[in-house]
Amino acid sequence: TQPIHIIGGGMAGSEAAWQAAEAGAHVILHEMRPVRRTEAHQTDGLAELVCSNSFRSDDHETNAVGLLHEEMRRANSLIMAMGDVNQVPAGGALAVDREAFSRAVTAKLEAHPNIEIRREEIAGLPPEEWDNVIVATGPLTSPALAEAVHGLTGEGELAFFDAIAPIIFADSIDMGVAWKQSRYDKGETEEDRAAYINCPMDKDQYHAFVEALLAGDKTVFRDWEKDTPYFEACLPIEVMAERGIETLRHGPMKPRGLTNAHKPDEKPYAVVQLRQDNAHGTLFNMVGFQTKLKYGAQSDIFRMIPGLENAQFARLGGIHRNTFLNSPKLLDPVMRLKARPALRFAGQITGVEGYVESAAMGLLAGRFAAAERLGQPATPPPATTALGALLMHITTGHVPGRKGAFQPMNVNFGLFPDMQGPSKGPNGERLRGAAKAQAKKRLMSARALADCDAWLGQT
Ligand code: FAD
Repeated sequence: TQPIHIIGGGMAGSEAAWQAAEAGAHVILHEMRPVRRTEAHQTDGLAELVCSNSFRSDDHETNAVGLLHEEMRRANSLIMAMGDVNQVPAGGALAVDREAFSRAVTAKLEAHPNIEIRREEIAGLPPEEWDNVIVATGPLTSPALAEAVHGLTGEGELAFFDAIAPIIFADSIDMGVAWKQSRYDKGETEEDRAAYINCPMDKDQYHAFVEALLAGDKTVFRDWEKDTPYFEACLPIEVMAERGIETLRHGPMKPRGLTNAHKPDEKPYAVVQLRQDNAHGTLFNMVGFQTKLKYGAQSDIFRMIPGLENAQFARLGGIHRNTFLNSPKLLDPVMRLKARPALRFAGQITGVEGYVESAAMGLLAGRFAAAERLGQPATPPPATTALGALLMHITTGHVPGRKGAFQPMNVNFGLFPDMQGPSKGPNGERLRGAAKAQAKKRLMSARALADCDAWLGQT
């Protein structure tokens, strides 16, 4: 049989290749690295994580991304399986050793009898004779392909910035000042509860720090970049600082749920948190500290943080492009380009945001492409599942209560069809506020997993 061609071996392309190959289709995976690099990838590995090493919450009962993890595990996801095998402690989150994870994904794909990997850039539209293609080239799609796709769609390409948070060598952090603790001591094991390093600030230190951020030397925008909207969840730290002196203290620098182990009686005014970044615990990333400050300014300003006076940076922060389609208008219900159905899109380029969401859209695209190739019906997952809710987001752009242009989204319960939550708890008590919301999420998650199992049973 003819192969399925997958362009891009990132989070989505790797998962798509696995799913299609496991379904029995023959796959050719085209990855341009190392022949051509992107602005963010550092290695030649497939499924390289370009920034944080976290797949976020692994709680599948009350958290939408945790639920997505669970649905993907049930659907034989390679990304989740290798993520689980290469975990590092991170409180209630699923964080991975990025190098070991990428190596494991690469090895699995290389060893699969139905997959051939070609290291080459597809620098324009794929040849007409490729009748079943998945484009999974991500936020940093090479310009030649991006332009070709733009030419084909005539609209829908929109660039804006994501920013990378700096990574610090753990042994350069002064643990006489900083301490290990997860917020609200979350996590099952002692290791989990020690997966974050906290650096405290008093009021004067905080104010001096915010002033330095505001004065710091930043990357200058080019003219065409100025109108580009930021993705709210990934705002650079200095942009947050510009919004008001208190903004950071209520955002990434909030001191709540943390007690200074060295001075338990002194409440910190603000706290900078660092999250474990590799299995050895030798690297920590600055949580929420994505930035467009210039490198020199970054090291000077971040060394003002108590505990980081002598910090050595394994990687400094940066800013990067994001490329995505106006998918609700351009894609059909099984992710094919309406204008050229031989092309199917997957991953962040379809307007989802995040490693797990991108891999999830690769999972669906791989299954749909294989079904098409093998002459079986391509059945989309129900909208009540996390997989289905994301698919609905990119194919219909429907966000309850939200108006305006299509924007990339992380998975969240707002994307699911609503349902009536319980008004009473297990002991007949009246539920209110947060407890009521949690109880509703539990119901939505249970509904999702039941519907996901039924869908998997049919496909
Ligand atoms: P990618 O994983 O980027 O994979 C695309 C692949 O296609 C790459 O390997 C690339 O080399 C290849 N490629 C591109 N063009 C071509 C071509 N023409 N021919 C052949 N191959 C090609 N998400 C998070 O969850 N957490 C984060 O902290 C985070 N930080 C980010 C920071 C930056 C700077 C960027 C850019 C993104 C970040 N994201 C983050 C988003 C994350 O990158 C994506 O969610 C995820 O990696 C997207 O998966 P993907 O498969 O769509 O794209």
